[in-house]
Amino acid sequence: MGLIIAANWKMHKTTGETADFCRSILKDEKQFGEVEVLICPPYTSLTTASGILNGSTLNLGAQDLHWKQEGAFTGEISGSMLRDLGVEYVIVGHSERRHVMGEANARIRDKVKAALESGLKPILCVGETEAEREAGSTNSVIKEQLLAALEGLGTGEMKSLVIAYEPVWAIGTGKAAQPADADSACSFIRQVLQDEGGSETAGKIPIQYGGSVKEGNIGSFVEFDSIQGALVGGASLQADSFSALIQAARKAVQS
Ligand code: PEP
Repeated sequence: MGLIIAANWKMHKTTGETADFCRSILKDEKQFGEVEVLICPPYTSLTTASGILNGSTLNLGAQDLHWKQEGAFTGEISGSMLRDLGVEYVIVGHSERRHVMGEANARIRDKVKAALESGLKPILCVGETEAEREAGSTNSVIKEQLLAALEGLGTGEMKSLVIAYEPVWAIGTGKAAQPADADSACSFIRQVLQDEGGSETAGKIPIQYGGSVKEGNIGSFVEFDSIQGALVGGASLQADSFSALIQAARKAVQS
């Protein structure tokens, strides 16, 4: 399985800034080789990014979706609306959605289902808080989040998932997880996926690490067989440094 590296811009960039970033990163497209690169701008920049990335090897993702396809949900965006814009992936259950917007496991399960029904590939985020890690509950928290999100999915649907292991305390803090701890959590995730869907299915689901990833540390994560890429926030906002991060990851798996 190759690497998949996704840029999560969160609430950053106007359409003009999005266009500048996309034109700039496309200049390095050939250097990314077999690494799948994914840009997840805010909703308002999806059309701009889609227009520029169309025809390239870079793919487009959204940062969230609603759990219904349409209806009286003021301010919300559905999976079918995202597909209509050329979006292929959607982040579901990011820690900022779980902990700032109060999304519970059941809501995240509904969003995973809605994404799959719309033909989107969900990037399902799971991860423990600092207090949960200190209490020794990392694996039980991850398992609970995973099992809730996978409920009712067939193996065919499971194969469309990407899982992002994102310890909450590592996101946006500059304090990345120890690579060996990330390896252990990602291996545990693979085991849960295997128990739920069998090894053939689990073997087709990329597992990313996310949390203060940058050019200087990406290699120490992806060199583990358990980790197939990264979900990157802060370090994805500048095209040149994000490009350098992708190239560092590629180099690390080649060596
Ligand atoms: C994220 O937004 O998912 C993330 C991991 O952010 P950062 O890379 O800034 O820690």
